[in-house]
Amino acid sequence: MRKLIAGNWKMNGQRADGTALAKTLAERARGSEAPDVDWLVCPPFTLLHLVAEQLSGSPVKLGAQDCHFEEKGAHTGDVAPGMLDDLCCSHVIVGHSERRQDHKESDELVQAKAEAARAHGITPILCIGETQEERDAGKAMDVLTRQLEGSLPAAGEGELVVAYEPVWAIGTGRTATAEDVREAHAHVRAQLKKAYGDTAGAQVRILYGGSVKPANAGELMATENVDGALVGGASLKADDFWEIGKAA
Ligand code: 13P
Repeated sequence: MRKLIAGNWKMNGQRADGTALAKTLAERARGSEAPDVDWLVCPPFTLLHLVAEQLSGSPVKLGAQDCHFEEKGAHTGDVAPGMLDDLCCSHVIVGHSERRQDHKESDELVQAKAEAARAHGITPILCIGETQEERDAGKAMDVLTRQLEGSLPAAGEGELVVAYEPVWAIGTGRTATAEDVREAHAHVRAQLKKAYGDTAGAQVRILYGGSVKPANAGELMATENVDGALVGGASLKADDFWEIGKAA
């Protein structure tokens, strides 16, 4: 499977630096030296429009970091999937651990968001992952099963991406070992096959996220069932993000 290298900018970037970063990536991805991967950037909502302009005509795709599950209406501060479609977003992250934590998002809510995104032809990137406490208690795989059972969209039309992001590896500089990642991704793959059948379950990309950087990307991306990366901090630096893509 072709790797997907996705950048989650989180709550970072203003017009000047966001535009400059998108412009650099778009130029590089258009060039003949570009590695054979799919590129995606997920800026904050405030920059989607400007970044879309920079990416126009380049192979770098645009995604958002969250969406509501309803079409429209009285939901102050929220953004509907149709609005993201209108801005040419091809992907949307749902269920990131920071949203599960900061906004108390449940598996059920995340599932509704993933289904709403797919209804608009937008690919959800469904994030799952255990905390340090859950890992220490030997419950990491159980947590992944529970999150997937609770939040996978119903079988049907449309693509899906799952991102395994152990909470303890996010923004900490601590990366899961290749063995941890191999075990978790094999587990996720088995759950996907159980939910969607062998063929469809094998086609879902599973990304790894959590302190991915140029120095560890090669080993992580070479691990079985790792179909790309969801990169936070290192996606804010054009050179680092680019090197991760080259290593993939
Ligand atoms: P870091 O790469 O900064 O650890 O963030 C990972 C992440 O949460 C991507 O969604």
